[in-house]
Amino acid sequence: MALSDSELTRYNRHILLPEIGADGQSKLKAARVLVVGAGGLGCPAALYLAAAGVGTLYIADGDRVELSNLHRQILFQTADIGALKAEAAALRLRALNPDIRIEPLAQRLDAANILEIVRRVDIVVDGSDRLATRYLTNDACVILRKAWVSAAIHRFEGQAMVYVPGAGPCYRCLFAQASDDVIPNCAEAGVLGVLPGVLGSMQATETLKLILNLGTSLVGRFLTYDALAMQFREYAFKRCADCAVCGEHPTISAPLEPAPATRDWPGMRRFSARELAQVLQSEAAGQARWVLVDVRDPREFAAGHLSAAINVPLGRLDAEYPNLPAQSNLVFLCRSGARSLRACAIAARHGSAVFAHLEGGLLAWATDIDSTLQVIA
Ligand SMILES: [Zn+2]
Repeated sequence: MALSDSELTRYNRHILLPEIGADGQSKLKAARVLVVGAGGLGCPAALYLAAAGVGTLYIADGDRVELSNLHRQILFQTADIGALKAEAAALRLRALNPDIRIEPLAQRLDAANILEIVRRVDIVVDGSDRLATRYLTNDACVILRKAWVSAAIHRFEGQAMVYVPGAGPCYRCLFAQASDDVIPNCAEAGVLGVLPGVLGSMQATETLKLILNLGTSLVGRFLTYDALAMQFREYAFKRCADCAVCGEHPTISAPLEPAPATRDWPGMRRFSARELAQVLQSEAAGQARWVLVDVRDPREFAAGHLSAAINVPLGRLDAEYPNLPAQSNLVFLCRSGARSLRACAIAARHGSAVFAHLEGGLLAWATDIDSTLQVIA
């Protein structure tokens, strides 16, 4: 692809590198990359890929910008709060580099749409904070023979790896399967804001190297980064002959609908907001007693809560479990339903016979039952 005079100037410091030159810059212009998730990882990755002149960038994210995103999601301004992330990201990236094509996809990727979207690109940069999406994009890339550049973050630590078809193992070779309940996301565990900047920049680096066919990629190497110790480690791993998607006899030949985010424990119930409202009404009529345990932080609880709820933040639940009313069934509540699922795991461990969580959390309650309830992030 020919470069205009202004492109020759814009990418001058690339073109000066003999390893890139005008030919390499033309390859970048011809490349098509999908960034999955415009979050902590996707923001810096997309900024660097756009700045570097990757010709077509798809940005897939179905969420809207929230105030609590801004300490790490550097594509967004305070004024973007409430905007669709994909749209706000596209505006910012076009302002940075009007010579490239930015395609916002304001939707969550799932088994039904993933193949059609991945088919349009050469490389997928996975910056999703959901494990289910990581498996979905990994599987789609193996099936369609596309490269996959993945990273994940947790508190002060990050990890990264690259899959290239025919060149090395995939994510399932290393982690055959897992579910989101074993790894809390940023909303539950917290994360150092700059951490995804390091990992997202590494994803952009690996993506540019793949397009330019430069250096040694992170294929077959699982890289970890510990920000507190300022230490990188890496683990070599090989393709697994039994891998369900890239092995000798794959059992996965089409993207799977993500498994439920958690398993259910014996005695566990899942209430929708409407079901919980009914349960609480029938309780008033003398049915079994349910105690509402709100596992959010005190700050969130103070902003708005259900009148009968007691507040035991998730981090203290294990220690305080013996003090909870022993004769009652517990219903765990949180903002979106993720922390309350983790609370169910704790209840199961303590041997509670019957317990429940509110699906969709108090956000669902505010939508379906009581719109005056304040639910803060
Ligand atoms: Zn595999």
